[in-house]
Amino acid sequence: MTLTNFHCHTFLCNHANGSVEDLIVAAKNAGCGALGISDHNPYPDDTWSATRMTPGQMKGYVDDVRRAAKTVNFPVYLGFECEYDPRYLDWLKYDVAEKAGADFMVYGSHWVYDDRFHCYVYIPSLHDKKLLIKYTDLTVEGIKTGIWTFLAHPDLPMAFLEKWDSEAKACLGAILDAAIDCNLPIEINGLGMTRQKHCSDGTVRYQYPFDDFWYYAKEKGAKVICNSDAHDFADVIDGHIRGRDYARKIGFTEIVVNPITGATEAP
Ligand SMILES: [Zn+2]
Ligand SMILES: [Zn+2]
Repeated sequence: MTLTNFHCHTFLCNHANGSVEDLIVAAKNAGCGALGISDHNPYPDDTWSATRMTPGQMKGYVDDVRRAAKTVNFPVYLGFECEYDPRYLDWLKYDVAEKAGADFMVYGSHWVYDDRFHCYVYIPSLHDKKLLIKYTDLTVEGIKTGIWTFLAHPDLPMAFLEKWDSEAKACLGAILDAAIDCNLPIEINGLGMTRQKHCSDGTVRYQYPFDDFWYYAKEKGAKVICNSDAHDFADVIDGHIRGRDYARKIGFTEIVVNPITGATEAP
């Protein structure tokens, strides 16, 4: 079994614990076979600045990843987890991916633009189904830009949705279809499995991953990757292992263990 992870964060994003070096040392100690570091990318003009590095910190991040990568005997890739907003597509392509020489780009859609504000997907206002549809349209448009290596937590909205009703299935199904059309692996997210459980209708479940979504994804033939989304370096590989257990439970027979080389194996 090749232990890998292509989704993890550093203290630069202001909501994670550990440095690039901490992640690489923890991954090495856990027997890692390949690691992708994907901190939240910066945006210009203070946009989303509370939860990410600044543009001025980007070079230091890149240098840290490249330097620390030389200290271990498994490949370490440089990446970013990004929000999509059409106004920042050129910024993502040129100022982030190209300038930094990123090896991979993760699409993590957490925010939706509601006329004047960026709303976080967890904010109860997204119970408003109009915003769910906006979120879906934005995410599908984002996927189609073709700049991504995989799609993080495609079932994130199930953290706030009460049930898998026709609307949830239509919206998350559209995101799933767009990912499949673009040949993009979708992520079983190990972090969601450690978050406070979601309780409704007398059932207790993970906020995400959400079972019905993943059975649906399996039926549609989606490619799957299992990542920890570590916001603490100690979880850098454990979250990947939790994700594999989950993939096995759903019945996937193959997962992507390196989205850059395309390597796959049984979960
Ligand atoms: Zn984060
Ligand atoms: Zn993340």
